[in-house]
Amino acid sequence: MSYVLKSVILQGSCGNLSYELADIFIKNGVVENIDSSKIELSDISSDHFFVTPGFVNSHLHPNQLLDRRMLDEKSITDLLSAMHIVQQKTDEDRYHQAIFVLIDALKSGATSIYAIASKPEPVIRAFNDIGITGAISCFFNDVWEGEGNTPAQISLQEVERNFAEFFKANNKDVKIHIGSASILTASNELLKLFNDIAVRYNTKVNIHMSEGIDSVERCRQHRGTTPIRLLDQLGILNERWNLIHATTVDAEEIKIIARSGASVIHCPVSNAKTGVGIAPMLDFYKKGVNIAIGTDACSNNNTNNILNEAYFATLLHSAIHRDALVFNEEIIFEWLIPNGLKIIDSNRNGKIEVGERADLLIWSLKDPCFVPLHYGKFRSAFINNAPDAKPHTVILGGRKVIENYTFTGDLEKRATDAIDRWTKKGLYQEAPVSY
Ligand SMILES: [Zn+2]
Repeated sequence: MSYVLKSVILQGSCGNLSYELADIFIKNGVVENIDSSKIELSDISSDHFFVTPGFVNSHLHPNQLLDRRMLDEKSITDLLSAMHIVQQKTDEDRYHQAIFVLIDALKSGATSIYAIASKPEPVIRAFNDIGITGAISCFFNDVWEGEGNTPAQISLQEVERNFAEFFKANNKDVKIHIGSASILTASNELLKLFNDIAVRYNTKVNIHMSEGIDSVERCRQHRGTTPIRLLDQLGILNERWNLIHATTVDAEEIKIIARSGASVIHCPVSNAKTGVGIAPMLDFYKKGVNIAIGTDACSNNNTNNILNEAYFATLLHSAIHRDALVFNEEIIFEWLIPNGLKIIDSNRNGKIEVGERADLLIWSLKDPCFVPLHYGKFRSAFINNAPDAKPHTVILGGRKVIENYTFTGDLEKRATDAIDRWTKKGLYQEAPVSY
């Protein structure tokens, strides 16, 4: 299949006021050619469409939708315990949740997703049915050193057997990673096994890390040190590790992470909502840590909107550092695109270039967030007008999956109907008020 995106606007290479008028030729899911020439801002009209690469949502739980609004106003300890209640969900229910959540994330411009799942098969199926790229971390737990309800556990022997089965779905567009809910759910032996498997399968480890003082103190009680120091002492922290949150780390731990080459995934909305604190992103940034950004579960966000996350991160760090320029637009876009692609282990560069997969966002310059049009700086709207900015059209591997802000095909409707049926049955088991 081939077609041309005619007379669209691309960001130019000479700053945020430079633009190009382009015809983008797409063939077999890939950008085949680009014909472009410079266009003056005064010649851009609201009838034009602005085209950008897709973003990466670097942390998403596709299977937490049925908890949305049921886990509001809970401490992180109560929230985790409530999440561990085994709801009466079938794999079909999990699939419908994943379809809904992935499409929701896609509507905010995330064309690549880093998902976690303790039941990966329905999530893998949902990725493939939508045609979205990214990575899925298969989560295994073998201990529980937290409070309240115990998460599902598995023996060390079963971990590799199950992972080998899930890994059969690994390909260049959907990578299969391994991990655990946190240090509280993974013994030292399991943590070492993750690293061993990551090396042997040439994949990555993904884990919630130092998410609030409670989890750090529990690690100290049970393992005699903090989570980051534990990984360091086990000799396993390296560039294969993608650490989610890292809100509660000290200066020495920041240095350990930086030295190891591990990446950090920042989820500021979730961290604020669950009251675990603010990750020291400026310190990570200054030490050269690879940083990406994710929305976490929509039960503790409550959106799957990656631009909302970038917006909140910008405001939050400007406020706490009393510096409006602490992370400028360029840095936030690094978190949103190339750093995220590195985290999911993609071989793509996230640019609109000949030979690259056509994962593109098409923005209508008629949208109110782009007024006044002739100021340019369109990319500012994605961050500073995030609540109002949605792509008009989303192209995944050359296929238009969202047109006129609406998902094409019937997957979204079928998923929504299935979710409504499940919730109407009154199956949801609410957590006790406090543990
Ligand atoms: Zn999470």
